[in-house]
Amino acid sequence: MCAQDPVLIVGGGPAGLATALELARLHIAAVVVERGAYDDRRLGEHLTPAGMLQLTALVPGFRAVADVHGRSAGVTAYWGSETAHYTDYFLHPGQHGLNLSRPRFDADLARAAETAGAGVLRLASLKRAVRSQMGWQVRIDRDGGTDDVAVAFIVDATGRAATFSRQQGARILAHDRQVAVATFWDCADDVGASTRSLVETVENGWWYCAAVGPLRHICMFVTDDDLLPRGPARDLRGWWLDQLSRAVHMPRGLRDISPPCEFITRSARSQRLDVAVGSGWIAVGDAAMAFDPLASQGIVKAVDHGRRAAAAIAAHLSGDEASLEQYALQVEREYIGYQDTRTQYYGMERRWPRSLFWSRRSAGVATR
Ligand SMILES: Cc1cc2nc3c(=O)[nH]c(=O)nc-3n(C[C@H](O)[C@H](O)[C@H](O)COP(=O)(O)OP(=O)(O)OC[C@H]3O[C@@H](n4cnc5c(N)ncnc54)[C@H](O)[C@@H]3O)c2cc1C
Repeated sequence: MCAQDPVLIVGGGPAGLATALELARLHIAAVVVERGAYDDRRLGEHLTPAGMLQLTALVPGFRAVADVHGRSAGVTAYWGSETAHYTDYFLHPGQHGLNLSRPRFDADLARAAETAGAGVLRLASLKRAVRSQMGWQVRIDRDGGTDDVAVAFIVDATGRAATFSRQQGARILAHDRQVAVATFWDCADDVGASTRSLVETVENGWWYCAAVGPLRHICMFVTDDDLLPRGPARDLRGWWLDQLSRAVHMPRGLRDISPPCEFITRSARSQRLDVAVGSGWIAVGDAAMAFDPLASQGIVKAVDHGRRAAAAIAAHLSGDEASLEQYALQVEREYIGYQDTRTQYYGMERRWPRSLFWSRRSAGVATR
């Protein structure tokens, strides 16, 4: 490895960009390869006050950028009974959370990484990576052209797909088969407007609704993939509305939702890699482990991984042979703690003992 060879980060979401920002702070050159241009639909918007403070520490000036996102006063959850559970953010340091416009948030984070000195290649992809004695020889495609470059180290920040880690032989361990079916709902008046997010359990899963702008909401139903309608003639919208009809507390206007509302189905399962580090590489964020959206911890976890992975990479490049293993061990412990918390939350809902969704959760977490 030459002193000037950069660290290559595959994936420019929160985890990859946080890693780039922290590497820049440690004076280590980094280049992010991002397949998109931050104009696609991205899910995962809720940031707790603690998450906001963590981001402010990583990205000075984040508060100013935060003005474009929706403020969140807290969460109201109907979980386990018809009694509302309130989480109020006012008394937390930070005083409010945020419901982010994710494409805008990720794009702003990419610009912050560039300002800090990292390179961000948009609409780019890693085509080949060959381990060399000193690091990696990689081929990157972008703008119809190809670059062959030497890099010191590779960070897998490709999200749940964990593309690079799997290419290195790592395996994804999935612990359930959860999916989210989400849509963005623009209400013409403020019928659904509230700065509190809403969570409600029903027989086949749970609902979530949050304002991401003055009149724009994200609404999603979380269930298991085998409970979705099947077949070529499946009516996802009809099924979604049928599930919605079983909810009591979701905004009433949602029931009139009509095309062109698009439904986006995404994996929302809990998963982790069997190994989050290898020779010359490390996985961060969802690539290393992905949480249930109920936790609202994905962005904070991504940023935290970025910070810790950058420190581990810096130590590794300075000859510390244990730093990557220590990171992997921390990630494994973190996942065990997360699973315990998740089991407790799902265990609180006992109203539908015969429901496949809830009985699977009360039976505990089984590795597939
Ligand atoms: C339905 C749902 C709701 C959620 N709600 C919340 C929430 O309210 N709050 C919260 O904190 N978290 C939430 N999460 C989780 C959160 O979205 C993720 O944990 C977070 O985005 C992880 O960041 P990441 O950078 O690891 O991965 P991602 O955000 O997935 O970013 C990966 C990036 O890599 C790029 N990429 C992928 N493959 C390649 C490739 N081969 N080459 C180049 N680029 C590539 C992608 O374009 C993307 O930019 C939710 C998740 C789901 C599924």
